[in-house]
Amino acid sequence: MQLMIKRHYEQVEKDLNGATLCIVSKKRSEQEIMEYYALGRRVFGENHAQELCAKAQSLPGDIQWNFIGHLQRNKVRQILPYVSMIQSVDSLRLAKEIEKEAARIDKTIDVLVEVHMAAEDEEKSGASPEEARELVAFCASQPHLCCKGIMAMGPHTNDVDRIREVFDETHALYQSLAKEHGLSILSMGMSDDYRIALSCGSTMVRIGTYLFEE
Ligand SMILES: *Cc1c(COP(=O)(O)O)cnc(C)c1O
Repeated sequence: MQLMIKRHYEQVEKDLNGATLCIVSKKRSEQEIMEYYALGRRVFGENHAQELCAKAQSLPGDIQWNFIGHLQRNKVRQILPYVSMIQSVDSLRLAKEIEKEAARIDKTIDVLVEVHMAAEDEEKSGASPEEARELVAFCASQPHLCCKGIMAMGPHTNDVDRIREVFDETHALYQSLAKEHGLSILSMGMSDDYRIALSCGSTMVRIGTYLFEE
């Protein structure tokens, strides 16, 4: 591992302060992933079904693969045997498909509901806050889904105040849902904004670039 990347990792470890690190390994080689595995990391995030399945089949079985990208319903069956959590449940139809497939293979799967909080980022996926409330309630009621919390992305801007505002709103939504449904994971924060996210109550950060590039 290059010195600069090692420094980045040590910085992240310090910043985590009890939060969970999901290392986003999309497009990274198996060798790069194994360097973090050797350091004890087990939670990795992927956003393409085929790539996740291929890596899961050749890398150690105790890796906890998280699916973090937009998930098409016709890919659910493919990834389900390999994933420990799906972070990107953004519609009722997708939630129903995951429940159906999980029941078929007799597996209980952890899920997060993806919320779209930054109204200005039109292209981003995720349920509206109102839809998210319904989705969390639905997932929490399903026998093969274990609803652990919500996932969100910060707004696409350099405006730190705006990022903080969105993360604060996400945290408020999380807290109100957590009370009702006993949630424990608020997944927010990536390479460029993870410190802000942690200061706003994130319990899981998803970091890729910063951990793989100088
Ligand atoms: C790629 C990705 C990340 C990681 O982003 P970096 O900027 O590389 O840290 C986090 N979350 C999701 C959903 C992603 O697709």
